[in-house]
Amino acid sequence: MADIKRKHARNVPGGFFVDTTCIDCDTCRWVAPETFNDIGDQSVVYHQPQDDAARLRAAQALLACPTASIGQEKPDGALIRNAQASFPAPIADNVYFCGYTSQNSYGAAPYLIVRPDGNVLVDSPRFAAPLVKRLEEMGGVKWMFLTHQDDVADHAKFAAHFGCKRIMHVDDIHGGTSDVEMQIEGTEPVAIAPDLTVIPTPGHTQGSACLIHGKFLFTGDHLAFSPSRGHLYAFRGAMWYRWSVQIESMKRLRDYEFEWVLPGHGRRHHAATAAMRESLDKCIAWMEQPEVVNARGWAE
Ligand code: SF4
Repeated sequence: MADIKRKHARNVPGGFFVDTTCIDCDTCRWVAPETFNDIGDQSVVYHQPQDDAARLRAAQALLACPTASIGQEKPDGALIRNAQASFPAPIADNVYFCGYTSQNSYGAAPYLIVRPDGNVLVDSPRFAAPLVKRLEEMGGVKWMFLTHQDDVADHAKFAAHFGCKRIMHVDDIHGGTSDVEMQIEGTEPVAIAPDLTVIPTPGHTQGSACLIHGKFLFTGDHLAFSPSRGHLYAFRGAMWYRWSVQIESMKRLRDYEFEWVLPGHGRRHHAATAAMRESLDKCIAWMEQPEVVNARGWAE
């Protein structure tokens, strides 16, 4: 829980607040956009939640925050227990947002796919007891797909607890992930089950990969949606391998049909297949334009 003595001066008065340990990961702003907003390099409460649904979303943001920077002036135990029970939170069909992001992955969003043949965690949440209990109730974890080296967080704890097999591209394997059970090589897609295909997408990192499951594409930090641009987008200012390689990886995604883009960072996106394809093409066209450096010194 956040520290009231560190409460940010720019919170509006009321129940919820953000303290000055916020690392500006963006999670609270998309989980509860009516409550939290951006003041440049941190988030604050700009509007206290006004109804039960908004209060639950604010409490979900409190639990999802990777740095425990969100608090309540008077802790509401019942509300927090409701929020704990709400994770993993449904997105669509059998796909869920796990909440409980990790500081080690800078608040990257972890997901759960519930399947008759065994559930899949996509990237690592915090190994938080309430989430572990809920995952047990939902059938445990058979596979853990790690999109890239930055979002592995508590992978070893989940593997030890659930006995799940981890999947990751070999080019992102380093000391802490050297015991990952299934190491993908090359750039060809690899089907790990009839409904699960790993698509290597190097660029953001050398070993970045996406996972496609039906209409859902899990993209790590390869691809997200930009509300300001109105189309899919890649993080040029946070690209750790090669932009030209990432463009080629993006073009290979044209071979697939999907309606959901579920990223680690940035905003998720849902659209009909044709609209999603159009958005992907806009992303590729934008990526092929010369780099522009913004006022903050970031490549765009
Ligand atoms: S979720 Fe936490 S760390 Fe991330 S922006 Fe919100 S308050 Fe800051």
